[in-house]
Amino acid sequence: MVIRNVRNFAFMDTIYYEAHKNLYINLTNRCSSDCVFCIRNFADGVYGYDLRLSREPTTEEVIEALEELNLSKYREIVFTGLGEPTLRFDVVLAVTRWLKSRNIRVRLDTNGQAALINPGRDVVLELKAAGIDSISVSLNAESEEKYNKLCRPTHENAYSAVLDFVKEARKAGISIRVTVVNVPEIDLEKCKKLADELGSGFHIRTLSEAASKEI
Ligand code: SF4
Repeated sequence: MVIRNVRNFAFMDTIYYEAHKNLYINLTNRCSSDCVFCIRNFADGVYGYDLRLSREPTTEEVIEALEELNLSKYREIVFTGLGEPTLRFDVVLAVTRWLKSRNIRVRLDTNGQAALINPGRDVVLELKAAGIDSISVSLNAESEEKYNKLCRPTHENAYSAVLDFVKEARKAGISIRVTVVNVPEIDLEKCKKLADELGSGFHIRTLSEAASKEI
């Protein structure tokens, strides 16, 4: 695996890295949740990569960095990071458009709260229009009560917003899956049933995968 850094960054932050034959993009360390299992509470990154940003990269800086790579060798480019990518929604959209103009497959890993983070915008339609291929949403609970306890979202009604986001993405024809962390507090069977009702794919992650939001 290779770590590359954005040029001209005062502290040479890692804004992308390779893993699982994918390229992961790290746009922010901020998040609208504070999950009890979040890697940010325990480490500075994943696989020995320090993903703490001294500042958030601009669209131009991300594209400039990606331009130096052979992007076609990756299975997909994934917005993930040590934080919630949709807090940088316009950057996600712009970089997605740029990647899709080069026929590169693009995935968004998200907590599903984009509509609350970006009020007044039709976030799913904007993602669809940008060309996003698939979305992976951290569901992590079979009920609002448990979600609030485990994910500690900033926004009220976050759980219903997550469910709406999944439904809307499916309706828009975007490939969608929900993920849950394999910890005793979460009822995996109930989450799987919920995923089926939502018409979504379903994936169980280990705690370390959940922390990194990868796979
Ligand atoms: S695990 Fe993901 S959604 Fe939860 S606080 Fe961390 S970055 Fe945010």
